[in-house]
This record gives sequence, structure tokens and C-alpha cells, in this order.
Amino acid sequence: MTVQLFGCVCGQFHSPGAGLGMGDQQVSVPIPFYVVEHPDGVALFDCGLHGDITNPDDPYRQRLRSQGMDSPVNAEELAAASLERLDIDPARVRYVVLSHLHFDHAGGLHQLPNATVVAQKKEWDAGFDDDMAARYFLVRRFFDLGHPVKLVDGEHDLFGDGSVTLHPSFGHTPGHQSMRVRSEDGDYILVGDACYHGGVVETRDFPAYSDHAAMNRSLDSLLALRGPDTVMVFGHDPAQWGERPVLRATRA
Ligand SMILES: [Zn+2]
Repeated sequence: MTVQLFGCVCGQFHSPGAGLGMGDQQVSVPIPFYVVEHPDGVALFDCGLHGDITNPDDPYRQRLRSQGMDSPVNAEELAAASLERLDIDPARVRYVVLSHLHFDHAGGLHQLPNATVVAQKKEWDAGFDDDMAARYFLVRRFFDLGHPVKLVDGEHDLFGDGSVTLHPSFGHTPGHQSMRVRSEDGDYILVGDACYHGGVVETRDFPAYSDHAAMNRSLDSLLALRGPDTVMVFGHDPAQWGERPVLRATRA
């Protein structure tokens, strides 16, 4: 058995385009997360939204709406239902690697009871520092659920065979990281929010609250990792999840 990679979309994020490097209009972007099936276990890269966000009265969703944002999602798009469509029991997930601690990336943890969370130490520390957490919108309710946590500092080889590697890409948040997967379908770099969409590779139009110098360095280093056939999968790119998704969500 080789390594298989799937991509699932867990709802949409509605936002003023300026926050996503997409101009002045209101935009809607997908919220993807990824499933890696390795002979030594199933790993997720991010896990989408919390189930409570399906409720328009959820306090965090209310907070988003008060700021011109929203994250509509239905129960079938949450992590557990997406895994079940792949015939993977959510209780069997071994690792959830978090790119960062934002609500739309860590929210699904509550449906993955037996996973070890893998995060960069800088990110986890920021999540528990009140000032940093407020500045970067790291909400403990979504990630601090008592899972075993493996903190890494820099690059990390998840299964020890080079097939799934983690790469620090700080700047969007203090300890953001990206993942490279050498799957049976090819070589993928799951960029996460180090770059929201393909256009940002050129414009470098990063979110206001992020560290722009660090984001530029991180994106340059991710681009330098590419081989001739590497596919870059960006954080919230509508063009990658339309009619022909960049990754399949089911085995069929
Ligand atoms: Zn995001």
C-alpha cells in the first residue's frame, strides 16, 4: 500500500475580498482539509470547521457575522462525515497536523478523539499567550480539547520515511506550517494559509494582521521546494476546488 492523499471541502468562508487578497467585493472561498492514508496510519492536515458552526447562533459565528464574515457549512461537510465517505472511522485517525490554530483549520478536532495533534511549538505557545492569541485570532475553544500534542520545531518527517514532511512557513500566524505529501498520484505541497490562492504568489497581498516579511520568506522557501511536477495546493483557492478539484474527496 502506498500513500494516498484526499482533499475535502468543509464549508465556505465569506469575507470582504480585501482580507483574502481578492479585491473590494465580498467573496466566498472554500475551506479545505486533507486526508493522508499511510501504511502506518491516517493523518489529517487541518480538519475544517467545528460542528457548532453549522448553527447560525453559535457565538463565534455571530462574531464573524458582526465583522462582515460568515462560514456556512452543513453537517455532511464536517471532518467526521467526510472521513466516513472514505470508509475511515474518525476514531482511527492517528495524527491531526495543524497548519495553524485558526477556527477554520483546527475546528474539527472535536470529532477526532484519538488523534495526536501535531503543531509547531511556536504556534502552540502563541495559542496559550493571551496577547498573541488575541492579535492572531487563535481561539482556545477550538484547539484546546485535551488531545495528546506533539510539538515540533522546524521541519519534521511525520512517518520517518520521507513521504509526509512538515515545513515551517511562519508569518500568517507565528508558527504556521505546510505539508509535503509524496502520494501515489504525485508530489503535493499543501501550502495552507502561507498563501491563500494562486494569485497571491505574484501579488504578495497578505492579510493585514500577519507578518508580511516572514510570509514573503516562507512563500519563497515553499516555492523553492517544488520539483518539476509538484502541485501547490493553496489555502483557500476557489479555482482549485471548482468543477475539477485539485484533489479527490472519495476513492471512486
Ligand atoms: Zn484559513
